[in-house]
Amino acid sequence: MAKIGFISLGCAKNQVDCERMMYRVQEAGHSVEYELPGCDVVVINTCGFIDSAKSEAIDAILAVAQLKEQGLVGKILVTGCLSQRYQDEVRKEMPEVDGLLGTGSYTEIVPAIESLLEEKTVVSYGSIDTPEAETGRILTTPAHYAFVKIAEGCDNRCAYCIIPYLRGRYRSRQMEDIVVEAESLAENGVKELIVVAQDTSRYGTDLPGHKRLLPALLRRLCRIDGLHWIRVHYVYPDEIDDELISVIAEEPKIVKYLDIPIQHCNDQILKRMNRRGDGAFLRSLLKKLRDRIPGLVIRTSLIAGLPGEGEAEFHELLDFLKETRMERVGAFVFSPEEGTPAARMEHVDADTAAERVRIIEELQSGIMDDYNASRMDTDMEVLVDGYDEEAEQFYGRTYADSPDIDGRVWLASDEPLREGSFVTVHIDGTVDGDLSGYIVEETDDFSK
Ligand code: SF4
Repeated sequence: MAKIGFISLGCAKNQVDCERMMYRVQEAGHSVEYELPGCDVVVINTCGFIDSAKSEAIDAILAVAQLKEQGLVGKILVTGCLSQRYQDEVRKEMPEVDGLLGTGSYTEIVPAIESLLEEKTVVSYGSIDTPEAETGRILTTPAHYAFVKIAEGCDNRCAYCIIPYLRGRYRSRQMEDIVVEAESLAENGVKELIVVAQDTSRYGTDLPGHKRLLPALLRRLCRIDGLHWIRVHYVYPDEIDDELISVIAEEPKIVKYLDIPIQHCNDQILKRMNRRGDGAFLRSLLKKLRDRIPGLVIRTSLIAGLPGEGEAEFHELLDFLKETRMERVGAFVFSPEEGTPAARMEHVDADTAAERVRIIEELQSGIMDDYNASRMDTDMEVLVDGYDEEAEQFYGRTYADSPDIDGRVWLASDEPLREGSFVTVHIDGTVDGDLSGYIVEETDDFSK
């Protein structure tokens, strides 16, 4: 039995892959460790889709390499997107790394570890189109919420995105497998289920019958006892049909929060980036969603500095944000990723793009303040996430806040609060852009 440590970087999908590797390792009789010193093998599950993610992965590898040099850890195994993308470079430039697994080889984690322990070199790159292998998970999120990855890969081929080259073509999991996993998560105390994939709205289109099955899947998930909130991320704009809108509007367990990455709104830029739908389509879609789903909070992702974005196009984007008032926005600097069509296109320099991100964030903080103001003096349901030692206060999230990317609600309470419980909070203030309030009722019995 060996001691295996894990580091997982990047997106929630990568986190689920890491949780599955941890489960396989534990099932094989090894121990999964949460402290790295003393580990026989450290698995670094990397992200590698844009520059900042690559630097973070390289820093993590170098940090573990230092522990190895000090004799505090044994072998280093690098998995995930950086390994998939830069297999030759990592081997040449990072001799500290003992093994490499590509994104098509997650199921090889146990034999890979055991080979390293036998002082063998490990380099395994299975097909990135390999169907998802069903297995258990060791959750790395707090026990009361979990991500469920419903598919892998992507067929959209946005011109700036390297992910399809790292994660392969779109592969939906079988609905039964997802439901069984969700039932097991609920039985083990998960109250909030966060549905993820590169593109969740395409779920089922690669399965026999080629139908969009996300609405049907969501209805099944809503029938699971114990789950109270179901949150949907990564829907592609032009795949949001009436059936999906209806299920979100009608099902009380589905939080009125939708993550719709649009990246931009200018017609020429969207066309050049191989994104379906134009500015007019996006405007009418957002209006339709707000009309059909009262209280809807919309999250999106934007890229500033995309090829073709001059001052006029950038201001068009600012006007679009002022008009559509999406409550949650993540803005990123365009990263010309070698191997993508967009990397060969003319674009503004990184400083200009960074300045545009700053301007977007400034505009959005005003929109977020207005959203917070609209919540003043109202009662909201809050999921208690934990206690902040520094602030000496409990905190949680409303339906409008997804973990790690959105805000918190700071909770005034004389009594200790149970992590993972739902409470009704009277919102009466803000703290640095976060809401705050006091408990009016504990509401947490969602056995049905
Ligand atoms: S939808 Fe576009 S941006 Fe998202 S993973 Fe697929 S190709 Fe990349």
